[in-house]
Amino acid sequence: MAADFDINREMSKIEAPVISFEHVSKEYQKGIAAIEDINIRIYKGEFVFIVGNSGSGKSTLIRLMLKEILPSKGKVFVAGREIGRLRKFQVGKYRRSIGVVFQDFRLLKDRNVYDNVAFAQQVVEAPARLIKRQVPKMLSLVGLIDKAKSFPNELSGGQQQRVALARALVNNPVILLADEPTGNLDPKNSWEIMSLLEDINKRGTTVVVVTHNQEIVDRMQKRVITLKNGRVISDEEKGRYRYAKN
Ligand code: ADP
Ligand code: MG
Repeated sequence: MAADFDINREMSKIEAPVISFEHVSKEYQKGIAAIEDINIRIYKGEFVFIVGNSGSGKSTLIRLMLKEILPSKGKVFVAGREIGRLRKFQVGKYRRSIGVVFQDFRLLKDRNVYDNVAFAQQVVEAPARLIKRQVPKMLSLVGLIDKAKSFPNELSGGQQQRVALARALVNNPVILLADEPTGNLDPKNSWEIMSLLEDINKRGTTVVVVTHNQEIVDRMQKRVITLKNGRVISDEEKGRYRYAKN
């Protein structure tokens, strides 16, 4: 399917990609490739879905971007830096500069909503004044300002994921990675999370979303990268969810 000629989008591609995989393979066990020869370029301001069957390598891509694991072959670049070459003392700061959301929310159960979001800023030693300003702003963005004092177990799954999103965004990341963010949510909450991700993207953040949600992928008309058995089998602008039968 040929996409429109969008000069702004095309111009943005003349810049270096925000995220780039160059011939990346990963073997967790010797001789068994979880992903193989992956070449992906993601540009500033893009919204990208990564889809594929369970075990096709989606989470491996996310973990490579965070340098939680290293490629067996090839290179991963973020903002022009080969992240495999980041020194140990640089990795923590690097990871904290990327917003990440997971299927299981991963909130601190013994802290209220406000403190869960504030914690992400305390970790990066943000000044107290900035925290006081940013946290309410993020909670308003995700529609949870009235739940600031609630604890995670007092919230629905959809609300918990919105807290996780506020936390992921509070330090103004250039990139937001979401690994099956709607995996535990009903359709209504899934749409709310996706529409928040779309808003965040419109404000300039590059968003990468791993998902199984066919309805959402088909309706949102974003770029879709499909994996099958650790390889990219399609990469389309305004793509659709492809069934990659094994
Ligand atoms: P997806 O997220 O698409 O379900 P993953 O990236 O989690 O896929 O996994 C891709 C492949 O790598 C699968 O075959 C999986 O079993 C394997 N794998 C993932 N993590 C590990 C690990 N820590 N050790 C060994 N094999 C793994
Ligand atoms: Mg996964």
